[in-house]
Amino acid sequence: MRPREGDAVTAVFVPRAEWGALPSQGPSTDITPGRGGVTVHHVGPSPTARRDHADCAGQVRAIQRQHMDGNGWADIAYTCLVCVHGRVFEGRGPWVRTAANGTAAGNQDWYAVCGLTGGSPSGYDTVTDALLDAFRWSTGWLRDSGGAGAGINRHGDHIVTQCPGGLSPYVLNGSLEPGSGPRDRAGTWPFPFGRGTAGRGTAAGTAGTAGTGGW
Ligand SMILES: [Zn+2]
Ligand SMILES: [Zn+2]
Repeated sequence: MRPREGDAVTAVFVPRAEWGALPSQGPSTDITPGRGGVTVHHVGPSPTARRDHADCAGQVRAIQRQHMDGNGWADIAYTCLVCVHGRVFEGRGPWVRTAANGTAAGNQDWYAVCGLTGGSPSGYDTVTDALLDAFRWSTGWLRDSGGAGAGINRHGDHIVTQCPGGLSPYVLNGSLEPGSGPRDRAGTWPFPFGRGTAGRGTAAGTAGTAGTGGW
């Protein structure tokens, strides 16, 4: 849960109770994440990122309802979900088997982190610095607290799928590796902020807004 050396550390964790999660129906905890690591997802083939962070929790609740009521799964499929405003929404969490990676081996050895973004080659949601920071934070968290191995891969590395779309280049170029954030490149902390307060405020009020510009 602690920040990783070398990252901008604007990510803010949003526990299940704060986004209004339905109770988990008890997915399996029989996993071996040390053999794999973290698999990156996006929501789907249409742009979906919410402009206003106040709308992100509702988006996560809708995904959970779709997975539980629609698909009949035991919980939202993802280990956690990250938004363009730099928040990390708790999903199944560490040491719980995901339902997102598409194969038995994928769900056995890999966690699943979903960016609340989407799109196709004709147009993707903008990948913000805050989103990348939240991915790095999530990966560090799952290594520290969930025994995740060093791998970071894509849904499309498990099965044939376009997922994670516009996030794919960031997986391949190492941008999601903990410690690869702007603090390392700049040599100083780029944001005069500590961690913010989970579940409060909108995009206009986040540390990422003031720190990165453009948001
Ligand atoms: Zn996916
Ligand atoms: Zn958000």
